[in-house]
Amino acid sequence: MGSWRLSGTTVYVTLEPCPMCAGALILARVDRVVFGACDPKFGAVVSLMSLLSDERFNHRVEFRGGVLAEESLKLLREFFELRRWRGARVAESGGLESRCAGIPRAVGSNPTLSAD
Ligand SMILES: [Zn+2]
Repeated sequence: MGSWRLSGTTVYVTLEPCPMCAGALILARVDRVVFGACDPKFGAVVSLMSLLSDERFNHRVEFRGGVLAEESLKLLREFFELRRWRGARVAESGGLESRCAGIPRAVGSNPTLSAD
């Protein structure tokens, strides 16, 4: 692409970006991110915080969540083994929680960060 900026790109992911990934999207000047399931434990777009909507940053990343959310959850479950998800509890939080209303969400710990 000839530049460190990813202007004009859209990133598609199964799970709502965490703070680190959301930060990378902002710094890389990505135009848009489309994600499947919300992540109430680490999600930094609509669940835990809303970094992509923070007007203090010098770049804004458009986003859309809940796209193929059920299919995304299925992929995540298959990849990280079903047993990790059993017995997990949904982390309850207020505030931004309502913005995820109706969007299927990952339950339990962030599968990308959990260690056995
Ligand atoms: Zn991340």
